[in-house]
Amino acid sequence: MEHLEEIRLSVRAICDSFDEDYWRKLDETRGYPTDFVKELTQSGFLGCLIPEEYGGAGLGLIEACAVLEEVSRSGGHPGAAHAQMYVMGSVLRHGSEEQKQKYLPAIANGKLRLQSFAVTEPTTGTDTTSLKTTAKRQGDKYIINGQKVWISRVQHSDLMVLLARTKPIEERSFKTDGLSCFIIDLQGAEMRGLAIKPIDAMINHHSCELFFDDFEVPAENLLGEEHKGFKVIMDGMNAERVLIGAECIGDARYFIDKAKNYANERLVFDRPIGQNQGVAFPIAQSYAQTQAAHLMVEKAAQLFDANKPCGAEANMAKMLAADASWKAGDVCLQTHGGFGMSREYHIERKLRETRLYQIAPISTNLILSYLSEHVLGMPRSF
Ligand SMILES: Cc1cc2nc3c(=O)[nH]c(=O)nc-3n(C[C@H](O)[C@H](O)[C@H](O)COP(=O)(O)OP(=O)(O)OC[C@H]3O[C@@H](n4cnc5c(N)ncnc54)[C@H](O)[C@@H]3O)c2cc1C
Repeated sequence: MEHLEEIRLSVRAICDSFDEDYWRKLDETRGYPTDFVKELTQSGFLGCLIPEEYGGAGLGLIEACAVLEEVSRSGGHPGAAHAQMYVMGSVLRHGSEEQKQKYLPAIANGKLRLQSFAVTEPTTGTDTTSLKTTAKRQGDKYIINGQKVWISRVQHSDLMVLLARTKPIEERSFKTDGLSCFIIDLQGAEMRGLAIKPIDAMINHHSCELFFDDFEVPAENLLGEEHKGFKVIMDGMNAERVLIGAECIGDARYFIDKAKNYANERLVFDRPIGQNQGVAFPIAQSYAQTQAAHLMVEKAAQLFDANKPCGAEANMAKMLAADASWKAGDVCLQTHGGFGMSREYHIERKLRETRLYQIAPISTNLILSYLSEHVLGMPRSF
């Protein structure tokens, strides 16, 4: 597909101005890549999934995958901005026309950042339908109380999508009943009952704990139907998994390129280390694994763009790509010997970053559980 190659070249040109030292410095100082995000927004790539009628480029998931893959491949960390692509989808698919007019053009032109979504809670974790944060209707507003954890980029975002309980758990008719989504305006939120506590974490993902104490949200900020918010979140998950799969493919290619180059250049016992099959074969194996995972990412994206069911493919794409990038990172580090551990070579940072995707946004076990039950028809385990 020729146009994908054009997108890749343009994204590469942007990434050239944000080299590996830029990302390393941010990692060390826990800084946010404001200039990079600005550039990616102004070039139209971050809003590429927003339809043209709302000021975006109106492209599909396959194009968005090419964008994130190139950022990862350049040595960058798209985790700093990727959520905008899929969180925006909740507003696009479930927002009222008024909400879409209010938010989407401003997200597309960079006036507003929708970088954050708050689902995970400390006591319920993966068991999302048991979450405890409540949103109680009082006249023309909802009052939010509760706690969230690992909520990324909240301090670098103007808006956040929140999933909270609007019906007590004992009154729900089925597991996913009684949860609702809200668009939270983060401007001045800390003065209105939201406490934000950054988490000191292994990677620079700007993740925080959130504490809601009688935090008021206008009822007009309800996203989708009341009590049916789980569907709003679920609808965005396939896109999220495919996009993160694409990031992992970019990471894997980054590691393979680096490993291959080093294997060709580094001389030990008077010959390039790549001449030893013990060094070359793991790189070749990693390459094959990455190519296969890429096919699944492409397949899932194509199904998504064609509005066809893609739950199984999206889950497999994310899992296979995350496995490929983790393996490639390990091989790359091993190829570099001791130098792989030096921060100067950037490998250890990228390895920490790509490790996340074994856990988030959904852990490998939960993907295997989905495939076991929903695709292979084995008994439900929880
Ligand atoms: C850096 C980072 C950024 C994040 N950003 C966000 C964000 O922006 N917004 C947000 O809402 N969340 C975010 N998360 C949270 C992330 O989605 C969760 O960490 C993830 O879903 C796993 O939940 P948990 O950590 O509570 O693990 P738990 O649910 O406690 O699970 C712990 C382990 O047990 C396994 N396990 C649990 N139950 C089962 C089972 N039934 N069968 C088999 N294995 C099981 C899991 O696979 C996992 O390995 C982020 C997390 C991290 C680390």
